Amino acid sequence: MWGIIATWSMSLDSLNTAGRELIFDSTASDAVVTAVKQVEDFPFYKSVGYGGLPNEEKEVELDAAYMDGDNLSIGAVGGIKDFANPVMIARELSRKKVNNFLVGSGAEKFASAHEFQRKNMLTKKAKKLYEQKIKENAKKLTPYAGHDTVGMVCLDKTGSMATATSTSGLFMKKAGRIGDSPIPGSGFYVDSQIGGATATGLGEDIMKGCLSFEIVRLMKEGKSPQESCNQAVFQLNEQLKKLRTEAGDISVVAMDKDGHWGCATNIKDFSFVVATAENPTPTVYIANSHNMETEIKVASKQWLTNYFAERGGVN
Ligand code: ASP
Repeated sequence: MWGIIATWSMSLDSLNTAGRELIFDSTASDAVVTAVKQVEDFPFYKSVGYGGLPNEEKEVELDAAYMDGDNLSIGAVGGIKDFANPVMIARELSRKKVNNFLVGSGAEKFASAHEFQRKNMLTKKAKKLYEQKIKENAKKLTPYAGHDTVGMVCLDKTGSMATATSTSGLFMKKAGRIGDSPIPGSGFYVDSQIGGATATGLGEDIMKGCLSFEIVRLMKEGKSPQESCNQAVFQLNEQLKKLRTEAGDISVVAMDKDGHWGCATNIKDFSFVVATAENPTPTVYIANSHNMETEIKVASKQWLTNYFAERGGVN
């Protein structure tokens, strides 16, 4: 058995690559890092890597993480600037005994010392969107709502699991703001003996539920990935609404050690992609919630065409 699950339709092409690699005995670690790197490199996705939208000071600050489910090693970077592939830097950090999570200039020094590729990550298109936003909201700048993190959980044929995330976080965020995506247990978690989960949405709220760890904890209790995602997301959603009157966007995907998967969301039409040994061609699904349950359907051709057109990308 092998499998890989990823947040958002933007992961579709990279799951094609990952699926091919996993068929040919790639490790979960290599497949997940290669797939996230592919999304980072694609310039038209406005919320990950090259082309990601900048903070309020017009700087692209990126967060990324990697976790190895065999030994629980974690590496993460926060607010890193001018490097092409934060996910690769995160994996390198996971191999160290200490200093696994570096932010800002410390992360950049580490990346330089290890000769990771430098790159100006602000594209013309992102700059233009920034300038438009400044004009529209000259007085009150609020963080943009359409932020998407790529997060993936992968299982290889030998039973090893790994997870990785990468994001530019919220458009117009404060300099130095770090979301859930590089925070272990919030944006991601994996244990090869159980399974893994990863989240996307409003980092500030996802962190309040340590959501990815909670899903893995529920799977450890014997719940299926789908039951675990439902319970973790809907309970946090209700609790936030009760205690704070509102809950931000929260979506998760999970896969267990046998390649069974699940997803839950509190937003409309959350898309995610899955490829497994049983269904090796990656499929895009759309999830919606109804009465604390998740309804999942295969994305129609039309839905995909609209999705990619809206994001100015190509399929
Ligand atoms: N969770 C990310 C953050 O808060 C953004 C997202 O996934 O949409 O930085």
